[in-house]
Amino acid sequence: MSVLDRRNEMMPRAELEQLQLERLQALLVRLKRNVRRCREKLGEARVQSIEEIERLPFTTPEELAQCFPYGMFAFPLREIIRLHTAVGAEGKPLVIGHTRNDLLEWGRLAGRQLVASGVTANDVVQIGLGPSSYPGLSGYVLGAELIEASVIAEDPLHLDYQLATLQSYRPTILITTPTNALELTRLLEQRRVDPQSLHLRTVLLSRQADSETRNLIAAGLFAAVKCNFGVREVSDPGLCVECESGRFHVNEDQFLVEVQDGELVVTTLCREAMPMLRYRTRVACAISREKCPCGRTGAMIHPGRRLDGRRLVNETPLYERQVAEVLAQTEAAGHPFQIEVSDRHIVVRMQMCEDLFSDTIWVVERLTHVIESEFLARLGIEARVVFTSPR
Ligand SMILES: [Zn+2]
Repeated sequence: MSVLDRRNEMMPRAELEQLQLERLQALLVRLKRNVRRCREKLGEARVQSIEEIERLPFTTPEELAQCFPYGMFAFPLREIIRLHTAVGAEGKPLVIGHTRNDLLEWGRLAGRQLVASGVTANDVVQIGLGPSSYPGLSGYVLGAELIEASVIAEDPLHLDYQLATLQSYRPTILITTPTNALELTRLLEQRRVDPQSLHLRTVLLSRQADSETRNLIAAGLFAAVKCNFGVREVSDPGLCVECESGRFHVNEDQFLVEVQDGELVVTTLCREAMPMLRYRTRVACAISREKCPCGRTGAMIHPGRRLDGRRLVNETPLYERQVAEVLAQTEAAGHPFQIEVSDRHIVVRMQMCEDLFSDTIWVVERLTHVIESEFLARLGIEARVVFTSPR
């Protein structure tokens, strides 16, 4: 059993709740002092117990989008040393800021997850998160460096290059997306490379995968598989740790979690640059707090589906509204469509109709090309357009 921060990860519940209360009270003071929007919302609100958090207002993804770019920052921009862009509510842009302390803490939290996955100073860690808008790469680099593992942090250019790195640098840990891990598995099969000839011990997936996918990856890469669960606006990675019993423990010394109407709600207790009070994550969730054999005392979360229709295409968040907005820039504006989402691209299905399409192939081909280029240019995702004939 490996635990990086026993004091915080295994703190007795009573002590943990006292710590959370003190940090929550300090957070309220900081928010009222430094964020105008919070000052107006909070008024004279204060809390005497953790339960009283229910009397405080929520922060919603829509609010974050309204405050873009810096309206939620609690520190002046000159003290923010890292900015990460993210996709917020309905595809609107979002920026997450970090102070120096925030980055240090992020590294410590990611480090907890890596140690729980068995990473030590003797490991070579390949981070192969690929060209995507997933900002978690930085967190893992900070975490792996903290543990003093040897980190290969470059995005692999393509799969064969990634395989060559696995063969020649002999990494023991691979941090990657489920899609990339599955593609590697297939490549090994095609190239007839024995997975045991690699040196991988653990594959840590950047997001949750179902048990079938986990099993395929475990067999295909001959390694144990661990998963991350994060919320990009809050902390991803760093929110929780998957322990050896396969449970996701929240780092509760840093995050206070609630479930409201079946939705995960997170308060960041220590974050400086962009603290969040009762952030509605739009992720369905359940929480349990029974004892876990691993000894960690942090609440266990059981995350479910997205509640806002957000999908991931090539690790880039996509909302249906964005699809309509892209189509609105073309001659297909306002035309009914259906989308199918796969790991790397989407398929947009539209029905042929007279007012829109001529029956000449050339016109249909041109429109297809225009729509596909617009998706790539505006959202950075590959779309394949299929026109179907009316029934
Ligand atoms: Zn556990």
